[in-house]
Amino acid sequence: MAKSKIVNNATVEERLTALFELQKVDSQIDDVHKLKGELPEEVQALTDEIAQIDERIERIKADIKEQELKVAKSNAEIGEAQTLIQRYEGQQNNIKNNREYESIMNQIELQKLEIQLLEKRIRDTRTQIATKDQTLEVSVKKREAKVKELDAKREELKKIIVKTEKDEKSLQKQREKARKAIDERMLLYYDRLREFYKQDGLAVVSLARTACEGCFNQIPPQVQVEVRHRKRIINCEHCGRILLDRGLAYGEATAGEEEEFGTFRDFPEVTTSDWDE
Ligand SMILES: [Zn+2]
Repeated sequence: MAKSKIVNNATVEERLTALFELQKVDSQIDDVHKLKGELPEEVQALTDEIAQIDERIERIKADIKEQELKVAKSNAEIGEAQTLIQRYEGQQNNIKNNREYESIMNQIELQKLEIQLLEKRIRDTRTQIATKDQTLEVSVKKREAKVKELDAKREELKKIIVKTEKDEKSLQKQREKARKAIDERMLLYYDRLREFYKQDGLAVVSLARTACEGCFNQIPPQVQVEVRHRKRIINCEHCGRILLDRGLAYGEATAGEEEEFGTFRDFPEVTTSDWDE
């Protein structure tokens, strides 16, 4: 029950600080995921694409095999026709009359035509095979390129995973710790905001001058004052995100970060009396 005691005794300022701590950790975890980015999806897409190319290659190969069988069959038929012609030519020596001669000559002519037809068919099929060979070559080259791309992406992803694994583990621990400092109801609201604003993952934002840093809408002056007073947890009336004054959010910023986020000199409306309340 130590947890609820801490949570219940916490001042608004402490609760806001705890929320902001959680937001910072969650944003870092988001960054790790962003680093991996589209890589896992890209690896999957490439794997699928290669499988499709493989199917295509198999289809083309089967087609070529079928066409080659056709050529072999036509060649066998030519052989048969040639055998017939030889037989007819042999019969020419034993011709008894004109009718027989004409009949044999017709048969020979017919077989010669058949051979011509088969030869044409073979040429056509060979042309088709040549085209298919080219398509096959293109597909094989495409596959090689995709496999190379996939290997590179896999390697990249592996490196990121190795690099971020430790960070991610420690961030997860920090996250668990940060969540323990926040009451259930607030966590629920926080999680819902994070889910709703998936794009930036921001549930807790600070006031950028006079605007909400989440949706960039103007915050009414009285609300701005209330945010700075830290007496109540206030959310943006436009986007619902929890509002934090910059002093609380970035007050402990290092010199370098101050540069980035702006210093208090940038906010003349903030007077020291606001902080003492
Ligand atoms: Zn807002």
